[in-house]
Amino acid sequence: MTPPARALPRILRGALLRFRHDPFAHGPFSGAAEEALDIEPDGLLLIENGKIAQIGPYKVLRPTLPPGLPEDDHSGCLIGPGFIDAHVHYPQLRAVASYGEQLLTWLTRYIFPEETRFSDPAYAAEVARIFLDQLLSAGTTTAAVYCTVHPESVEAFFAESARRNTRMIAGKVLMDRNAPDALCDTAQTGYDQSRLLIDRWHGTGRQLYAVTPRFAPTSTPEQLRLAGILLDETPGLYMQTHLLETQTEEAWVRRLFPDRSGYLDVYAHAGLVRPRAIFGHGVHLSGRDRHHCHDARCAIAHCPRSNLFLGSGNFDLFAALDPGRPVRVALGSDVGAGDSLSILRVMNEAYKVAHAHGNRLHPAQSYWLATTGAACALELSGVIGELAPGIEADLCILDPAATPLSAERVSRAESWNDVLFALTMLGDDRHIRATYVAGARVA
Ligand SMILES: [Zn+2]
Repeated sequence: MTPPARALPRILRGALLRFRHDPFAHGPFSGAAEEALDIEPDGLLLIENGKIAQIGPYKVLRPTLPPGLPEDDHSGCLIGPGFIDAHVHYPQLRAVASYGEQLLTWLTRYIFPEETRFSDPAYAAEVARIFLDQLLSAGTTTAAVYCTVHPESVEAFFAESARRNTRMIAGKVLMDRNAPDALCDTAQTGYDQSRLLIDRWHGTGRQLYAVTPRFAPTSTPEQLRLAGILLDETPGLYMQTHLLETQTEEAWVRRLFPDRSGYLDVYAHAGLVRPRAIFGHGVHLSGRDRHHCHDARCAIAHCPRSNLFLGSGNFDLFAALDPGRPVRVALGSDVGAGDSLSILRVMNEAYKVAHAHGNRLHPAQSYWLATTGAACALELSGVIGELAPGIEADLCILDPAATPLSAERVSRAESWNDVLFALTMLGDDRHIRATYVAGARVA
């Protein structure tokens, strides 16, 4: 496969969105969030060879650069890193917004029949293309993506991502029980197929592989054990699965794994709780689980739209981020249980779910969880997720006044924090002026 052509050097002009420090740095309730944003109102960002080469005030930097460089003028907009979606299922795109069920019956009624179609490479390729179009239109440039049990679904996804040069994390779902026959592998075939896909795709261009047992109820202990062996065999792999999404599911896991002390222990016993492990949801984490996740430096993907849609419960973000033992957290859309690929829409619900727990999620904090903080949670700091020289030029250009309502609202904004808050509450894909991948404009 020929890699995509490198974009020529290019200047972007607009307000630059950066952080002075982690807005959770001194604990969720300190004043750190208010001071965290570092905005350059008239900024210049120079892209060279797919990376950010220089950044600073436009009036200072522009005279130092060759006059003929192409320039994208995004004045009036915010230039930030592309969003990171830490939990999403591309094969569920067409099953989004399916009515009336909670997790386990929703899977059986809507999701498993749709996932069965992904044994067809042409079908998988078509949905992968539409999914990535939609994701990039929403300003998301990196995602941790579940495919289906079929290797064809993984092949189709990575091929489409490689064609676009997007930095994606994805993997073949492992399921060897409690699912329709057409969606089951075995512990051994799951291992063998994953092994081949890892060799073919992990570290190929910008693609990264995640060993992906769907969740404990659909994997035997032997399949989970082999998943741990895959991780031990290839350093740098990701692991993604679901954890403690609903209480019914938790009770089921306790029945299936009576020898384990709890749901998280099922994964720990197989060696799956580690850095680069991404656990979807964790809505019903105990205090002990949070300590365990902190010590293991694994990540939780907080998916508030999905949790509300399926009635799964309200994740306690600020309990997870307790400065005494913070757990790494990123945001996830969890489409198709989540009903939007827009991380702005996810931030909207994250704010409300935090409020339901009596906490205020500052806009700098939610933006952090979707960008720089997410890169940190996924061990991609220094690669993506911020505006700095040397970082891959995956960018999302936000237009705070893209709709009549948001234009009215930001005309009254008192500060950049206020502009950002309005964006996180009113924003959706209409507020994405442009998306860049490795320096090339793609949406
Ligand atoms: Zn999910």
